[in-house]
Amino acid sequence: MRKPLLIGNWKMNGSLQANEALVMRLLPRLRAFRDSLELGVCPPLPYLFQVRDLLGSTGVALGAQNASAFVSGAHTGEVSVAMLQELGCRYVLVGHSERRTLYGETNQDVAAKFRAAMSVGLTPVLCVGESLEEREADQTSNVVAKQIQAVINEVGLSSLTKGVVAYEPVWAIGTGRTATPEQVSIVHQDIRSFVGCDASEASQDISEDLRIIYGGSVKPKNAIDLFSLSDVDGGLIGGASLHSKGFGAIAGAL
Ligand code: 13P
Repeated sequence: MRKPLLIGNWKMNGSLQANEALVMRLLPRLRAFRDSLELGVCPPLPYLFQVRDLLGSTGVALGAQNASAFVSGAHTGEVSVAMLQELGCRYVLVGHSERRTLYGETNQDVAAKFRAAMSVGLTPVLCVGESLEEREADQTSNVVAKQIQAVINEVGLSSLTKGVVAYEPVWAIGTGRTATPEQVSIVHQDIRSFVGCDASEASQDISEDLRIIYGGSVKPKNAIDLFSLSDVDGGLIGGASLHSKGFGAIAGAL
């Protein structure tokens, strides 16, 4: 049984004051879902300490938006997975499309980050998805398969379920243009069959166990349709996660 997962990605937003106000309003709204859902928020790095303390033992987990694939040393400006783990993070996003497109992260870089996260017991949330040009050229499945295959090559198929896959079509991120339930359903099914078609015997089980969540302009008004799809195991929410009412309503749709 795949437990639904809802993660808020705050991106580069917030302040000490705004974070406190948001978390304080959010926690009562999430209380009702703490048993049925796995919940997490990913604040910007400088606020992890603050948000960890605000979340306390409420069951809402802490996550980071990125991490280095390197263990330690001369990597100015980078943060290691061990540091995130020590700070109390449970999740780390790897390969968010903004990291891939704005900061040049390749499939190989992302796979190395996935491995690093796993190695310290963090749950990597592997973000995959196609650009508009790739969708229009009918390349969606190929692009997503390559993104996932790079991780399988790095950690092995059986380790994929140590993480979560987040399908986030690039053209739907922050644009207000959500993928239709049909489009989402097709890609999520494609991912599941891609993982399940490996020659190894266990691949069917791995495909069944793998959580695949959706992200890209999820709002309270479209969340019910998206989350009712059988292959959608939750959401990765950007803009709407900055509003307690919206995020609470999205949790209610799961
Ligand atoms: P939006 O929900 O703002 O479209 O962002 C999605 C996203 O990128 C989450 O990681």
